[in-house]
Amino acid sequence: MDRGRTITLASRNAKKAVELRALVGDGWDVRGLGDCPGVPEVEEDGATFLENAAKKAVEVSRHVVGLVLADDSGLEVDARGGAPGGLSARFAGNHGDDASNNAMLLGRLDGVAAEGRGAQFRCVLALARSGEVLFTCEGVCRGWIGFAARGERGFGYDPLFVPEWEVSREGGTLRFGRTFAEIGAEEKNRRSHRARAMDLLRNRLADLG
Ligand code: IMP
Repeated sequence: MDRGRTITLASRNAKKAVELRALVGDGWDVRGLGDCPGVPEVEEDGATFLENAAKKAVEVSRHVVGLVLADDSGLEVDARGGAPGGLSARFAGNHGDDASNNAMLLGRLDGVAAEGRGAQFRCVLALARSGEVLFTCEGVCRGWIGFAARGERGFGYDPLFVPEWEVSREGGTLRFGRTFAEIGAEEKNRRSHRARAMDLLRNRLADLG
């Protein structure tokens, strides 16, 4: 494979990497960090998704050949001023403890009626090569936080997140349909925050490939 068509995903979140790999599509040699021994851990200490995505992409790109794609993403809940936001992965304390993070979020929304449970996922992507950022973009997916975890698929807050196209209004009442964890990968990868960001990046990738 031509080195110019190699992309390394700068993510240690295996389930996120599965989504990114599917979204990059065919024609690229996509590698994970597991294929690149010696790449140091990158501390996510930026103030924004953009700073963290750019930092991850740039630092990893100093250690590997070809393009590096980083994703920094999270859930922003309207009624909580955009929290957990950049703290999404470690909302309840332990990085990547999805069950505890979901329980924490449900607790924070205890007593909040359907109308007040609006939220969005935000995904920022950064593409870098040889220590330089080439492109950044973002995608947002609006939805609502359900009242209980439902579904087994996906990762993170997927069992709580009902995307806006799954919500209807009957009379004055909001009806929540399937969560991201119930709709499954194929539909999530067509309409999610990550899919929307990747739609913007794909044109750029075509120029670089
Ligand atoms: P990051 O790896 O620092 O970008 O952390 C992202 C965190 O945001 C994840 O650990 C999840 O908690 C949450 N998150 C981001 N994207 C998604 C998604 O597509 N579904 C569910 N949770 C997500």
